[in-house]
This record gives sequence, C-alpha cells and structure tokens, in this order.
Amino acid sequence: MGGKRSRKAPISGLGDDMALGWLIRFLIAVVAVRMAWKFFSGLLEGAAQRPRVPPRHGVKLVRDPVCGTYVDRSRAVSARGRGGVHYFCSEDCRTAYRRDPRGSAARA
Ligand SMILES: [Zn+2]
Repeated sequence: MGGKRSRKAPISGLGDDMALGWLIRFLIAVVAVRMAWKFFSGLLEGAAQRPRVPPRHGVKLVRDPVCGTYVDRSRAVSARGRGGVHYFCSEDCRTAYRRDPRGSAARA
C-alpha cells in the first residue's frame, strides 16, 4: 500500500510562475503604453509646430463694404457681387450685403 503519490508542485511555486507571467504582461503593457505615448505626443507636437495662420507680412487687408471694417482677406467672408468679389468681416455683413447690395455699395 503505498503512498506513492506524485506530489504536485507547491502552491508557492505555482504562484511564482503566475507572478512571472504577470510581470511579462506588465512589461509588455508598459512598452505598449510608452510607444502609444510617443506616437500621440509626436502627433501633438507636429500639430503645434504647424503654423495655423500665414505670416503677418503676407496679410492683405480688405474693406468690408457693409460696416467699413478692414479685415484680413484670408479670414474674410467672401461673396461674388457686382464688380467682382467682395469681402466681409462676418456672415452677418455678407447677408446684409446680399439683401441690399445697392444700399451697402452706396454707403461704401
Ligand atoms: Zn462687417
């Protein structure tokens, strides 16, 4: 009658294996997070370094015929009308011009 049982690995040993597994997973996660962080920070830097507005010396000012304000042409609201393209400081002015182009032109 034997007690010839094959003893299973002690729980502590099993725990070590699991700990190693978790450690590897943790390291992989850290590497993945760092790569993702580098990727996103690179994107942010690229977006920040790209100039959103052209340099000042290239700015052309145009006069809004409705309210008389001078506006940066690249930011102005444009509309085709009699005598070519007109530029406005806002949608409101363009709408006003379209509603009454003669009145606006008379005031300009
Ligand atoms: Zn205006």
